[in-house]
Amino acid sequence: MALIVAKFGGTSVADIERIERAAAKVVQEVERGHKVVVVVSAMSGVTNQLVEHCSAISKMHDLREYDVVVSSGEQATAGLMAMALQKAGVQARSWLGWQIPIRTSDMHGKARVTGVETEELHKRLDSGEVVVVPGFQGVTEAGRIATLGRGGSDTTAVALAAALEAERCDIYTDVDGVYTADPRVVEQAQKIPKVSYEEMIELASLGTKVLQIRSVEIAMNKEVPVQVLSSFEDEIGSDLPGTLVTREDDIMEKQTVSGVAYSRDDAKITVLDVPDKPGLAAKIFKPLAEAAINIDMIVQNVSSDTKTTDVTFTVSRNESARALEVIGNLEEFQEAGVLTADNVAKISVVGIGMVSYHGVASKMFETLAEKGINIQVISTSEIKISVLVDEEYTELAVRALHEAFGLEEQEAA
Ligand code: ASP
Ligand code: MG
Repeated sequence: MALIVAKFGGTSVADIERIERAAAKVVQEVERGHKVVVVVSAMSGVTNQLVEHCSAISKMHDLREYDVVVSSGEQATAGLMAMALQKAGVQARSWLGWQIPIRTSDMHGKARVTGVETEELHKRLDSGEVVVVPGFQGVTEAGRIATLGRGGSDTTAVALAAALEAERCDIYTDVDGVYTADPRVVEQAQKIPKVSYEEMIELASLGTKVLQIRSVEIAMNKEVPVQVLSSFEDEIGSDLPGTLVTREDDIMEKQTVSGVAYSRDDAKITVLDVPDKPGLAAKIFKPLAEAAINIDMIVQNVSSDTKTTDVTFTVSRNESARALEVIGNLEEFQEAGVLTADNVAKISVVGIGMVSYHGVASKMFETLAEKGINIQVISTSEIKISVLVDEEYTELAVRALHEAFGLEEQEAA
């Protein structure tokens, strides 16, 4: 007997038939004696359409009202899920973000969860009721609805699992786990049975998009085991067929490289001839931070003449125009040349085993060199090496690295 949070993503609740299919999985867990909290996304495509409606009124729409609009998709699914569960013969009730409440910061459009009230939910679960919660939404201190950023239903699910001290958080999606590479690019990609939180954070930030990164951060901090599995297979979460995201200590076989990820969401910006003196980097990056623009990779060369240097960095493609505007407004850089490129891809290899194994970087660079792929920017962390390359080499690079690190053999080993 356990308390399980089960979250169903947009494709898993895309129509009534699929909602009933998802409900049947919940019923199976209930029949095994588990208490279940169900978190649902909006039916697939709905959030995008709601976002479009907002933009059609004005590009500069009020974010408080944006949240009122876009949170409605999940609200509809929650009611439908509760009905489907009732039809299947289990007690079920929906609870909207403000009713629980799930408290959030007031950053409308990308709010953070700051607290979850659990008393009433526990009471309901104890009485045998399935609790259905719309993902993606909470309530601010001012009492307004706020949403958690795109993909935020994952975060709702993990935050609830943490607050309720659930045994596990199952994330049902349209893939049956986390793979060594995107299976659409690499045919031989393998499902990874277990992956550490640290690796998953890197993979999530690198374009695998299986989980919202905030959800993995919360899972890591609160040590919530998260399982990624497909809602299209017959098994349910308790049969553990997916990928388990868990503590590093729970993983016996640590792979040097667990996966190869890519993302085409970045843009490269280079500020030329920046005076080589203290404080200049801060002058560029502080205003960008104040504009809430995320910077990813950064390189600054040592200047050869000790007078000027170039600073290159990457931002999200959809924020590059704003980043350019911010830099354009800086007094110090009125004279500086600024170059931008959108046709770049970030390719990364990730693995917890890298911490204690050398030679991953050289193998990566050699492999790319053999394919004639030029590396524009490099960045590393303890468990990740990323390179920026010309976008047209994305697939070639991913396939070559997947093979070079022997990832297609992983399962057999
Ligand atoms: N429906 C929201 C989105 O599409 C949240 C989610 O599904 O996780 O971003
Ligand atoms: Mg999602």
